[in-house]
Amino acid sequence: KTIGIDAGGTLTKVAYLNDQNEFQFKAFPSKDLSMVKEWIESFPEIEEIGITGGRTEQLLSKLKINKPIDYVVEFDATIKGVKYLLKKEGHNIQKSIITNVGTGTSIHYMDNEKHVRVGGTGIGGGTLTGLATIITGLSDFKEITEIAKQGKREFIDLFVKDIFEGMEPPIEGHLTASNFGKVNLLNNTSYKIPDLLATIQALVGEVITTLSIQYADMKNSETIIYIGSTLANNEHLKEVIANYTILKKHTPVFLKDCGFSGAIGALLNK
Ligand code: ATP
Ligand code: MG
Repeated sequence: KTIGIDAGGTLTKVAYLNDQNEFQFKAFPSKDLSMVKEWIESFPEIEEIGITGGRTEQLLSKLKINKPIDYVVEFDATIKGVKYLLKKEGHNIQKSIITNVGTGTSIHYMDNEKHVRVGGTGIGGGTLTGLATIITGLSDFKEITEIAKQGKREFIDLFVKDIFEGMEPPIEGHLTASNFGKVNLLNNTSYKIPDLLATIQALVGEVITTLSIQYADMKNSETIIYIGSTLANNEHLKEVIANYTILKKHTPVFLKDCGFSGAIGALLNK
């Protein structure tokens, strides 16, 4: 058996094929790589490992296994995995911006066989959980995203229509004029945790989408494919991203196993 590993900043993802040749996935926290080691060691039928991601060296130095290991550059693995998932999920996209919302965010442009990293931002999944923890005390990703769904941004974010009250705004009124911008304009002193979390998600989502749209315009690409574990089971963030992408006349694409493209690519590369 061959497995693919993507040792990322926050999560180490593993992909392998079951007896029916279907992909199976597992994710472990990268801050405790001994869990990955134990899992791999409990699998004697592993013959080959394809590996990618920034924590590759840290993981390999822990593993010390005598099986053939193939390192793949992260961006190559990610694009390979995205191509696989696009096909599997019935999309026919040759040319697209690909935005990987991991711990940080990396933005790529794919045009048939070619791909290039066009940019990125430090605003990503780590920012989402980091700000959420400092502001609300919650640190569990699942809990943060579940609670964010119930929140409202209107008491914290300043929208264009709030500034142009009574006037016709020069741009669409429901666009965000300033994330968190209402805080010092109103005399509220307490905020509900769901509202704070919804606002943090929107801040992260809007920064990522704004940047992705600029690259999509630059490269004349209609679609933007958003991937990364930050979007996994995070319908609220996907909604922020989808709404804004559509408003800006681009087509957002989300993939089901969005967190595992690197691990899939590392496996397929073998
Ligand atoms: P990078 O690619 O930047 O090195 P990474 O590969 O570890 O990082 P991903 O795994 O794609 O990044 O995404 C990490 C983000 O996913 C976290 O910052 C968090 O927002 C979110 N996340 C989803 N599930 C979990 C989880 N179980 N535990 C922690 N974070 C999670
Ligand atoms: Mg990653």
